[in-house]
Amino acid sequence: MMKMDEVKNLDKKYVIHTYKRIPLVLVKGKGTRVWDSEGKEYLDFVAGIAVNGLGHCHPKVVKAIQEQVSQLMHISNLYYIEPQVKLAKLLAENSFGDKSFFCNSGAEANEAAIKLSRKYGKGERYEIICMEGSFHGRTLATLTATGQEKYRKGYAPLAPGFKIVPFNDLGKVKEAISSRTVGIMLELIQGEGGINVAEDKYLKGIRKLCDENDLLLILDEIQCGMGRTGKLFSYEHYGIEPDIMTLAKSLGGGFPIGAMITKDKIASCFAPGDHASTFGGNPLACSAACAALEAVLEENLIENAAQVGDYFIEKLKGLQKEYSFIKNVKGKGLMIGVELDFEGKDIVTKCQEKGILINCTVDRVLRFVPPLIVTKEEVDKVINVLDEVFERSNQ
Ligand SMILES: *Cc1c(COP(=O)(O)O)cnc(C)c1O
Repeated sequence: MMKMDEVKNLDKKYVIHTYKRIPLVLVKGKGTRVWDSEGKEYLDFVAGIAVNGLGHCHPKVVKAIQEQVSQLMHISNLYYIEPQVKLAKLLAENSFGDKSFFCNSGAEANEAAIKLSRKYGKGERYEIICMEGSFHGRTLATLTATGQEKYRKGYAPLAPGFKIVPFNDLGKVKEAISSRTVGIMLELIQGEGGINVAEDKYLKGIRKLCDENDLLLILDEIQCGMGRTGKLFSYEHYGIEPDIMTLAKSLGGGFPIGAMITKDKIASCFAPGDHASTFGGNPLACSAACAALEAVLEENLIENAAQVGDYFIEKLKGLQKEYSFIKNVKGKGLMIGVELDFEGKDIVTKCQEKGILINCTVDRVLRFVPPLIVTKEEVDKVINVLDEVFERSNQ
């Protein structure tokens, strides 16, 4: 096995530098744990940024992939694909949606949603209203939909047809609607924006605006979906349904796959040839996702996310009482942010030294998105380490 420095040097020489890397080579994972190239163990509360929702190498997902990989890895969408129809059926049975389109990533799922919306608008309506602080991906259209300047810088001219308004401000959404508007797109918990939760009245108001103006409500559940917030999909907390939902991240239990899910009536705006993906919905990815979704539904993980999430938030609020530099504890289920009044990167490093992986978004918000299998004992361990690290930051 390569040593840290060797991997680091090869990365520097041969990989394009789009990532600011943490000096750590992770080589093995099991459940909530990962190990680095030196054999050191970590409790993983980053979980591939909410990708490893089932923990690392969940046995059902591993088995499904092993069985499928020796049977058939890829076949073109020119032909029918059995694991793809199974996954589409499973998603329809467990969501508001009727039909799915499959792709390989979150950005692609949102691209599909944007393209379908434009078809729905028949060339007359094409504008999509998006939110400040959002994150929808790195393709040109999805970064135009992303309401954070740092991702857009240097990429002008961006795609036309997007309006960005402040998050959780219904009045501003209403003002932005024009005769060109076809949809409203948002995350119910903004992940890359710092764990900002959409308010109940706000989302209900948006649903009403969509109904009154024939607009599509597009929910990006790429990070907050698949059980993470204590419901299979976050919209279930609000008593409303979207018209289009996008999924990726933990959909494949660690294997890359994205999906766009919608109602029959809206799905019919796409005709054969209108949209496609070579790898989208391939047998391997769909087998992994079927196994992952079954595990989420059958292994009490949604309830665990709700219960352990509540416990975690309560403990973090306890820390907030002790440390005045904690400005806010926010989130739902196992998607939690701790807002500090200083940059969090040193806290992340100190936690890592003590065997806990966490990360930080928008510079000052510590983010916790552990696997849904996490236990209260593991949360206690993280709380104790945070307490030690915060104590030292206080001096
Ligand atoms: C990660 C993420 C995306 C982009 O997914 P990729 O697979 O990186 O393209 C889009 N939306 C949200 C909410 C995300 O968290």
